[in-house]
Amino acid sequence: MRIILLGAPGAGKGTVAKLLTEFDGSVQISTGDILRAAVKEGTPLGKEAKGYMDRGDLVPDSLIMKLMEVRLQEPDCAKGFILDGFPRTIPQAEALKTLLAGLKIRLDFVANLEVPRDVILDRLTTRRTCSNPDCQEIYNIKSNPPGPGGVCKKCGSPTIQRADETEEAISFRLETYNAKTAPLIGFYGKEGLLKTFVSLSSKDTVESIKGALKA
Ligand code: ADP
Ligand code: ZN
Repeated sequence: MRIILLGAPGAGKGTVAKLLTEFDGSVQISTGDILRAAVKEGTPLGKEAKGYMDRGDLVPDSLIMKLMEVRLQEPDCAKGFILDGFPRTIPQAEALKTLLAGLKIRLDFVANLEVPRDVILDRLTTRRTCSNPDCQEIYNIKSNPPGPGGVCKKCGSPTIQRADETEEAISFRLETYNAKTAPLIGFYGKEGLLKTFVSLSSKDTVESIKGALKA
């Protein structure tokens, strides 16, 4: 499959993307995960991105496009990809359109995950993430808690609350989403690529997306 997952922070894009990779071997490409790994490793990309990320602000479009241009041409993308957290702005969506046209890649559709605001707020404040950059498993202290002592059940590393998951950073991320990312709903609507999924359970959403792919 070749799809984009669109949705506010906390809409469940990461969880849905992971479940979809098990379906047909398509790779999940999360710009957030790539950036966090770069910050942790202290690469030049990571050094440039860190300040923006800690504030909950977007990393500049030019940096993201440099990264994605390379990533989308890696061999594992040939089987298909699920874009999670990209594009995030109209300029990124325009640049992606040009890039995909050049690579002769056609998207199946853009899945817009719609989740009520109170559900989103609750999810973001209760989220914990594995601190191991090679794992980054996501937990929720209410619905999917980490193991005893707060360690990751997959790799045993401590789980943490991300710097951008303080209340202040969360409300800024939601404002940023409304101002910069929500306009992509109109953009992909015009392109005839948009499908909206009311998404309360990740599992149900995955089934609906699979159904839409077959149709
Ligand atoms: P979220 O939980 O907000 O969806 P992500 O893990 O997708 O978070 O991204 C974390 C941070 O990484 C964002 O707040 C932003 O600073 C940066 N980031 C990720 N993807 C992009 C992108 N496509 N464009 C700009 N910044 C991005
Ligand atoms: Zn882990």
